[in-house]
Amino acid sequence: MKAGVLALQGAFREHAEALAALGAEPVEIRAPEQLAGIDVLVLPGGESTTVSRLLVTSGLIGPLRDRVASGLPTLGTCAGLILLAGELLDGRPDQVCLGAIDCSVRRNAYGRQVASFETPLEVAGLPGGPFPGVFIRAPVIERTGPEVEVLARHEGRPVLCRQGAAWASTFHPELAGDLRIHQRFLAEAGRMTREVRQ
Ligand code: GLN
Repeated sequence: MKAGVLALQGAFREHAEALAALGAEPVEIRAPEQLAGIDVLVLPGGESTTVSRLLVTSGLIGPLRDRVASGLPTLGTCAGLILLAGELLDGRPDQVCLGAIDCSVRRNAYGRQVASFETPLEVAGLPGGPFPGVFIRAPVIERTGPEVEVLARHEGRPVLCRQGAAWASTFHPELAGDLRIHQRFLAEAGRMTREVRQ
C-alpha cells in the first residue's frame, strides 16, 4: 500500500516512519504529480496557516481537494485535522479547508498554560487499553455534524473522529510511540479499497 504523506511542513517524518513500520510504503508529497498512485494520504501536524499557504503555492490544493473528495482514505492530525474540517472558527480569512469532515474547529483553543499535554484516551473499538494522547497547541472541535463518528473524547470534546474515509485527530498519534491508530486507519482503508474493487 502506497501511503502519501503531505511533506510541505511539520511532523511528516514521524508519520512516514509509523507507516513504514506497519508495512506501508510512505511517499512524501510535495508536488501534484506525486499524488498519483497513492492508496491513502496522511496530513500531518504543523502550522496550518503555513501548510495552507504552501498548498496554494505548490499547486497541490486543487488535486488534493479532488482526491480527498473522491474518497481517498485520509488521516489528518492536528493541523491536518484543521485542513480536513468544514469550518474554521478563527482561521486566517484565506486559509483553506477541504471540508471532508463536517465539523467546526477552533485553533490553539487550549490556551497558554495547557498548550501542550499528554493524557490517556479511551478510543472506541481500539483493543489494548488507553491510547497516549499527545496534544501540541491542539485545536478543539466545537461541533460535529450528524455524519461524523466520534471515536474518542477528552473533557467531553471530540479528539478523534471519522467521516467515511476521512479520519482526524486533534492529537499526534505519530508521536505516541504507539502504532494502533495508524494500524486501524490502514486496515480500514484496505478494507474500503477492496470493497470498491469488488
Ligand atoms: N496550532 C497549530 C495550528 O493552528 C496546530 C498544531 C499542531 O499541528 N501541532 O496550525
